[in-house]
Amino acid sequence: MNKFAFVDCKTVDEALGQLDNGATVKAGGIDLLDLMKDGIVTPPKLVNIRNVSSLHGITAGADGLHLGPLSTLSEIAAHPEIQKSYTALADAAGHAATPQVRNMATLGGNIMQRPRCWYFRSSDFDCKKKSGGSDDCHAHTGENQYHAIMNNSTCAMVHPSSTAVPLLAMNAQVELTSKRGKRTVAMSDFYVPPEKSLINETVVQPGELITGVFVPTPEPGTRSAYQKYGEKESFDWPLADAGVVLVMDGTHCRKAWIALGVAAPTPIRSAAAEAVLTGKTIDEATARAAASAAMQGATPLSQNGFKTQLFQTAIYRTVLLAAGQMKRDPSSIG
Ligand SMILES: Cc1cc2nc3c(=O)[nH]c(=O)nc-3n(C[C@H](O)[C@H](O)[C@H](O)COP(=O)(O)OP(=O)(O)OC[C@H]3O[C@@H](n4cnc5c(N)ncnc54)[C@H](O)[C@@H]3O)c2cc1C
Repeated sequence: MNKFAFVDCKTVDEALGQLDNGATVKAGGIDLLDLMKDGIVTPPKLVNIRNVSSLHGITAGADGLHLGPLSTLSEIAAHPEIQKSYTALADAAGHAATPQVRNMATLGGNIMQRPRCWYFRSSDFDCKKKSGGSDDCHAHTGENQYHAIMNNSTCAMVHPSSTAVPLLAMNAQVELTSKRGKRTVAMSDFYVPPEKSLINETVVQPGELITGVFVPTPEPGTRSAYQKYGEKESFDWPLADAGVVLVMDGTHCRKAWIALGVAAPTPIRSAAAEAVLTGKTIDEATARAAASAAMQGATPLSQNGFKTQLFQTAIYRTVLLAAGQMKRDPSSIG
């Protein structure tokens, strides 16, 4: 690990004043410290924001849900109003990682964690995401069982944030603050695909801090769910996950939003699956048709064809869970 300075900040202004010359924000530190220990990132200074009180807190108001970026995954999962009205977000936060990780991991850090790809995360490989790296994506010809099955022609990494999935389906917004002021970015514009940049995975610029996440109040009749499937019960990232938001009138679906987590290098919405459900009665047949539509155009690699089937199962079961027609799947993980 490189030598680095450590600054503990109490206010947003103090933190912004410290974010210069490659200094990096530290929230819970779970992902950042892993990357530093493996020599993948070498920041000269860590700016600790955990003690900035204005970045903590969850408020469910008439306009929607205001989440401080330092809200932990445990706090989000346990919040009664999130469980009731933003169920998919509580599901995602409560089924990520492990209880110990969830107590430490923050929402801001969760959506900002770096992608999962063992070629990127190992200092032994000259992955094309690293400066001076190879022109090739090693996952295309190498070990790729956990990698992307969609939008994977440039780089086959996956973004593993569980909370990003329901936030995308719920049309959330992220507030970014820098010395120049504030701006708001829709979750749908927050992640940057590798075709646009191999280096920047999000629109967050150096010197910017996530200072809030906002989820608008759901329409009457909204129900939502998130489920995650993986290799083992706990202590693991997803291999397939789905966040589903439905506006229901009895069993009739008026509107649908379906987001997929680790299918592609960034979390994505499936317009094809949403179109299958919109205006239809939700039942096993429509849920299965939506799951199948979502995987049309998938381009699995040599070892991850199984993810196409796993995603169909995740979408099918999560649509039925959101519609209240199935219980949480005991074989989903977390
Ligand atoms: C065994 C294990 C299993 C896991 N399983 C899952 C899983 O199933 N689903 C899942 O989603 N995650 C999973 N994780 C990842 C874990 O949830 C993340 O590492 C964690 O959420 C990161 O949050 P943090 O607060 O520790 O972020 P940090 O490590 O402090 O920061 C991560 C990144 O975010 C940036 N950052 C943090 N806060 C801000 C801010 N306010 N503004 C701007 N930038 C910021 C940092 O600079 C850094 O680049 C798992 C982790 C482990 C160890």
